[in-house]
Amino acid sequence: MIQPNMPETTNWRFEIDVERLGWLTIDTPNSPVNTLSRLAIEELETLVVRFEELAKSGELVGVILLSGKDSGFIAGADVSEFDAMSDFSVLPGALQRTHALFSRIEALKVPMVAGIHGFCLGGGLELALACHYRVAVNNDKTRIGFPEVNLGIFPGFGGTGRSIRQAGPVDAMQLMLTGRMIRAGAARGFNLVDKLVRHRDMLRWEARKAVLQKRESSEAGFAKKVMAMGPLRGYIANKMREQVGKKARKEHYPAPYALIDLFEQHGDNWQAMSHGEIERFVPLMGSDTATNLRRVFFASEALKKQGIKGAKFARVHVIGAGVMGGDIAAWCALRGMSVTLQDLDMARIQPALDRGKKLFKKRLKKKREVDAAMLRFEADPEGKGAARADVIIEAVVEKLEVKQSIFGELEFKAKPDAILATNTSSIELERIAEKLKQPERLIGLHFFNPVAQLPLVEVIRSTFNTDDAIGRGAAFALAIGKSPVVVKSAPGFLVNRVLMPYMLAAVERVEKGESKELLDAAAVAFGMPMGPIELMDTVGLDVGKSVATELGHAVPEGSNFDTLVKAGKLGRKTGEGFYKWEDGKAQKGDVPSHADLAGLGRELVKPLVDMTEVVVAEGDVANDGLADIGVIMGTGFAPFLGGPIKARKDGKA
Ligand code: NAD
Repeated sequence: MIQPNMPETTNWRFEIDVERLGWLTIDTPNSPVNTLSRLAIEELETLVVRFEELAKSGELVGVILLSGKDSGFIAGADVSEFDAMSDFSVLPGALQRTHALFSRIEALKVPMVAGIHGFCLGGGLELALACHYRVAVNNDKTRIGFPEVNLGIFPGFGGTGRSIRQAGPVDAMQLMLTGRMIRAGAARGFNLVDKLVRHRDMLRWEARKAVLQKRESSEAGFAKKVMAMGPLRGYIANKMREQVGKKARKEHYPAPYALIDLFEQHGDNWQAMSHGEIERFVPLMGSDTATNLRRVFFASEALKKQGIKGAKFARVHVIGAGVMGGDIAAWCALRGMSVTLQDLDMARIQPALDRGKKLFKKRLKKKREVDAAMLRFEADPEGKGAARADVIIEAVVEKLEVKQSIFGELEFKAKPDAILATNTSSIELERIAEKLKQPERLIGLHFFNPVAQLPLVEVIRSTFNTDDAIGRGAAFALAIGKSPVVVKSAPGFLVNRVLMPYMLAAVERVEKGESKELLDAAAVAFGMPMGPIELMDTVGLDVGKSVATELGHAVPEGSNFDTLVKAGKLGRKTGEGFYKWEDGKAQKGDVPSHADLAGLGRELVKPLVDMTEVVVAEGDVANDGLADIGVIMGTGFAPFLGGPIKARKDGKA
C-alpha cells in the first residue's frame, strides 16, 4: 500500500494499492458509528481535491469507500451539530458546500464505489448515491433509508434529487416521506444499490471489480420516471399530500409537505430538485418542530445508555399467560430469548402460543425463523423454567395475595442473580415485596398493551431496591428492544397517572352533554394521536374504570360510563363503548364546528400536563426530560412539541 502524500484527516483513512485502487475508509473517532460531521465533510473535500489530481496524473484508477466500523456504513449527518447548524447565516453556505463536494465526487474522472454494510442512512445514503456504483451486503443487518422526516427535515445533501434519479419518483418519495429503513434486497429492487454480496468480506472484492470494470449505475427507467412528468406529477403530489395528511398535520410536521412541494416543482429534473432542496430545507431545520424532534431523538438515545453494562439475559420465565403475560413472553422470544410461559393449565397457555406464532409470522416472515422462534417459546404449566431463568416476569391477575404467594415461592426457586419482576399496574411494589427474604430483589417491569406496539417499559423502583436491581431491569428492557424509564412505585406510575385525569375530564364533559366527536377531534388537532374518548374505548372501559378507582377517581354510580361498564359495553374489544366499533374503527358522527379546535385540545390536555409536572415535582421520575420522553412514548403526546413539560415551557400547553 502507498500513502500518496495525502492531507491529514481524523475521520478518513486513505491508501492506494499496487493496482492504483484508492481505498477510502470512514472511521469517525471516538464513536461506535460513523457520522458525517462538518469536519468529516471538510476533510473529505481536501481528499477529493487529491483524488482529482491523482486521477489526472494516472496514479489513481478509482476509489472504494468503505466503513471502518462493525456497526455499519454511515448513520447520517451528525445530529449533535444540528442546533448550531440551524443558524440561517451558516446553514445555506454549509449545504451548498456539501452539494458542491458531492457533485465533484460525481464528476471524478475515475469511478468511486461505495461498499455498504449495516446502517446506511440519511447523509450516509446521500454520499453513497453521489458515488458511481453501490455494492451492499445482503444480510439482516443492512438497513438503508432516509430517516430525516423523523427529525423534522428532509434529505439536504442532494439526496432528494439523486434518490429520484435512481429509484424513480414514487419509490424515492415514499422512502423519504415515511423515513422507513429498507433491507439490501429491497434497496436493490429500488435501484438504490447496484450489486449485492453475501458477506462483508466480499465487499472489497466486488467493489474492486466494479472499479476495474468501470461499472456505472443506471438511472431509473422511463416507466418509473414518467410518473413525475407533466400533469401526472401534480396528481401524484396531491395523492402524497393525502397520504401524509392521514398521519401528520402540516402545521405540526411541515417537512413532508415541503418535500412534496419541492417534488411538485422539480420532480422531473433531478438536478433541479437537488438545487431547490436547500431553499426549502433551511427554514425547516430551525423550526420549533425540528428542534423538539431533535430533543426527543436525544432523549430516546439517552434511554439506551441506561442499565448495567454487559448484563446478559438468555432465558425468561413468564407467569400468567393472559393478555399481558402471553404477549410479553412472545415478544421476548421474538427478540431471541428462550422463554417458558406458565399459567394454571395448558388451555390457558395455548392462546398465547397461537398469538405468538402470528406475531412471529408478521415480524420474521421466513418460515425458518418463525419455527426457530416457536422452538424458543415453550409452554410450561408446571413452572419448571423458573429455576433456570435469568429473568422472571409475573403477569397474573391483579391480586396482592396471589402475587405475594408467587414471589414467596419464586424467591427460593430462582437463581440467586435472576431478576424478579412484576408487571402490576396498580399494586404498590413494597406490598408485594414485604414478605420476601430479600425484598430488594423485586422490581416492576410495567409493559403497555399492546406489547408489540408500545416501546415503553416503566422500570418501577420500590423503596427496597438498589441501583443494581434497577440497572439490571433497565438493561433487560433494552435487551428486548424496549425503552426503559425508571419510575418510583407510586399509584399509576407515570403514564397511567398522567393519562387518567385527562381521559376522565373528557369523559365528564361528554357526560355533561358535549360532543365526543368534537373533543376527540380537538385533541387530535392539538397533536395527540387519538382523542381521549376513543382512547378510553381502546384501553377498555373496565380497565379504565379500575385504574381510575385505584387513582382515587371513582366513576360515579349511574353515570353513562358506569352504565356502559355494567352493560358489558367495554369499548373496542366488545364492539361498543362510548362509540360503536366496526372492523377496529370507531364509528363517529359529524364533528360539530368549533372556532378554535386546537385551543380546545389544549384545554383538554391541561390535566395531563399538570400531572406530569406533579410527577416530576414529587421526584417519581428523575427529571423533566425523562418525564417528557416517557409520556411521549407511553401516550403518543405530540412529539413535535417535545413532550408535555417542554410544551408548557414554550407556552404551547
Ligand atoms: P389476564 O386476566 O388477561 O391474565 C392473567 C392470567 O394469569 C390468566 O391467564 C390467569 O389464568 C393467570 N393466573 C392467575 N393466577 C395464576 C397463578 N397463580 N399462576 C399462574 N397463572 C395465574 O390479565 P392481564 O390483563 O394480562 O394482566 C396481568 C397483569 O398485568 C396484572 O397485574 C395487570 O395489572 C398488569 N397489566 C395489565 C395491563 C392491561 O392493559 N391489561 C397493562 C399493564 C399491566
